[in-house]
Amino acid sequence: MKLSKKQFKQDFEERLTSKFATDLTKAGYQEIYDALASVVKHYYANIWVSDNQYKDETGKKQAYYFSIEFLPGKMLKSNLLNLGMLKTVREGLEDFGIELDEVAKVEPDMAIGNGGLGRLASCFMDSLASTGLPGNGNGIRYRYGLFKQKIIDGYQVELPDSWLNNGNPWEVRRADKAVEVTFGGEVWLEDDGKGNLIPHYKDQERVLAVPYDTPMIGYENTTVNNMCLWRSEVPEELDPKFQNLEYMRQTSMLSAELYPDDSNYDGRLLRLKQEYFFVSAGLQRILHHYKGTQKKDIRRISDYIAVHINDTHPALCVPEFMRLLVDDYGVGWNRAWDTTVKVMSYTNHTILSEALEKWPEEMVKQLLPRIYQIIVEIDRRRTAELLPKIGASLVHNTRIIKDGQIHMANLSIIGSHSTNGVAKLHSDLLKDVELHDFYEIYPERFNNKTNGIADRRWIQIANERLSGIIDETIGKSWRHDLDELKLLKNFKDDEKTLEKLQKAKYDDKLRLAALIKEKNGIIVNPDAIFDVQVKRLHAYKRQLLNALHILKLYFDLKENPELDRVPRVFIFGAKAAPSYHYAKSIIKCINEIANMINNDQTVKDKLKVVFMENYNVSLAEMIIPAANVGEQISLASKEASGTSNMKFMLNGTLTIGTLDGANIEIFEAAGDGNNFVFGLTKDEVYEYYRNGNYNARDIFEQNPVVNRILNALIDGTIPNIKSEGREIFDSLTVYNDEYFVLRDFNDYVRAQADLEKLYRDPKAWAQASLMNIANVGRFSSDRTVKEYADDIWYIKAKKE
Ligand SMILES: *Cc1c(COP(=O)(O)O)cnc(C)c1O
Repeated sequence: MKLSKKQFKQDFEERLTSKFATDLTKAGYQEIYDALASVVKHYYANIWVSDNQYKDETGKKQAYYFSIEFLPGKMLKSNLLNLGMLKTVREGLEDFGIELDEVAKVEPDMAIGNGGLGRLASCFMDSLASTGLPGNGNGIRYRYGLFKQKIIDGYQVELPDSWLNNGNPWEVRRADKAVEVTFGGEVWLEDDGKGNLIPHYKDQERVLAVPYDTPMIGYENTTVNNMCLWRSEVPEELDPKFQNLEYMRQTSMLSAELYPDDSNYDGRLLRLKQEYFFVSAGLQRILHHYKGTQKKDIRRISDYIAVHINDTHPALCVPEFMRLLVDDYGVGWNRAWDTTVKVMSYTNHTILSEALEKWPEEMVKQLLPRIYQIIVEIDRRRTAELLPKIGASLVHNTRIIKDGQIHMANLSIIGSHSTNGVAKLHSDLLKDVELHDFYEIYPERFNNKTNGIADRRWIQIANERLSGIIDETIGKSWRHDLDELKLLKNFKDDEKTLEKLQKAKYDDKLRLAALIKEKNGIIVNPDAIFDVQVKRLHAYKRQLLNALHILKLYFDLKENPELDRVPRVFIFGAKAAPSYHYAKSIIKCINEIANMINNDQTVKDKLKVVFMENYNVSLAEMIIPAANVGEQISLASKEASGTSNMKFMLNGTLTIGTLDGANIEIFEAAGDGNNFVFGLTKDEVYEYYRNGNYNARDIFEQNPVVNRILNALIDGTIPNIKSEGREIFDSLTVYNDEYFVLRDFNDYVRAQADLEKLYRDPKAWAQASLMNIANVGRFSSDRTVKEYADDIWYIKAKKE
């Protein structure tokens, strides 16, 4: 959008005065931020209105991405960038003596998600709009986001994230689009005399679902999609039975808290209620729009909408859509089922068995009696149809209801036309192992969609310096098409370009060093290798392997302080689920290892360890650009894709990693020698599982280095470490090291040594860094969402 600096300054000053009855001399940052957001909103409002009009008039098919989590981070700069106003606004504010970056600090980091899953949903939102695809989000407007993490005495402490306290300027409450969602009570079916079974209800608990719309603005185009988030409220006319405080409390609880469990299944009733709440509300709104407003033929609804089930949390989309079609819109069962399967599609995000969602039949029956009936009927009909065709064992293994439980992945696969994994390796594992029985029955439904990242946020916003250097080198086309970065390859031997890249990295390291000093009080050497592991804390991600290697480096230096080592700064950022005891113990250990090393004068600035608290999207935007090395060291087969690996690659960071998830595709794309690969392969891991012959204790006893390090966890070497040291020691030596940390240790040490060797050759390192950037194009989520659009949703981009 064309906006002159003059116009902006005028609009901004006016808004500040009209909104807060103040002026520039007296306004605080909160007021400046609110006034600025309000001006920006004014700029995009018309584009939003006309794009909605365009969508309605053309009647084009739209996709709806149902996700129980989104992790957008801050929106101010991203909106400005996408509107093409970042520079104008920055300069306009400068004229007033205001720093845009200072204003941006006021915005809370919107964290209504845990980690990769929610961040992927938000990257998709940006990419859908930026590629002109009509694709919208549907989720929950949690009153409290993911907890804020404090580190106290080395321990994680969780504080509430009350992110809405100062309001949210980007959202629009649409009270007129509210719908009702019902729970519990009784339901029975009665024949209406024409052979139709009509449900009748009694004593249902009603909840009002109110949508809040947040615009998802495309990058320099005219597309504005919608992220719809639902808030639960008490309906106006309440049955006397429910006029009590307990009901009021429960109703508001429904959209109060995000479950802080990244991948563990949490069986509480409230979670099931949340899942049905946003699924039912979202589908009702969609159907109202198409049937009520647009007057489309309900029997052809699959021509107009696609609904995506992001992991199994929205799996109730399948029976709820059936309920709406059959009960509310009078579509016959068979037609409704065909339609549902055509509309729905599903992404699997993990094979960790503790993350596979199952709900007790009894619970579903009580909370969602009609949905329960429909699930039973889906299961019954399918079983009757398939038994004669494919035999008892395949049918049994793939049933939705088994052993008194409802299997949400099974429901999602059976009720949709597409099941995808999120990286090649992961999708192959689904087909060959984890979902093999389903693959035998529905081979055509399985496909891969390797994850991606919204490159605009992760380089144009997070790393303006690097972005500028790339512009100088190859022009600006890469800002619209990340594949264009391949032009950088022509500069692989150009000393000037390599020097500029090094300089940019160095400046980003200085910026992070300043932040570390401010937050942690630790002074780090900007010439050191910045070696970063940032992601949720989980045993399978193996932060422990990193920590054990740090101990090795430390003991090497203790033994020989003159050792010729490239200085290193290890940087961690990670939240642990509050109920995940083991993960929290690892945080404690890392912090105590850090205290020991950072306070030991003998290692000086050759080794520093920094744990940055409260890892979130904004912190990621500060840390990742400054990383020389990114740690992607999960046990092969456990990390479905990973996306921070892609953010690092985009920022010229070299990866040290296992052959897991998207790492494999990253290593392949970047080319040999440009990253550091180590560890067991997926096949080797599965071979151990088959033979049951892994013995961690043997490694502990036979490898003197491992022996020394592990003993340090329990012999008092690390001051202030408590039972956590023993707990971790035991997990490795007594409970046989579930994630093969000790098995991969030696090869990891080898890869780390290779890395250090390359770092001593700055030119070679810079070349490898350049090759990572040059080959990152396919990891743009623009590519990913285009594949979803073409292969799964059948939606088309708007022509500009
Ligand atoms: C990208 C991102 C993640 C996902 O990181 P992985 O290393 O892929 O698990 C998690 N949290 C935040 C804040 C992110 O930006």
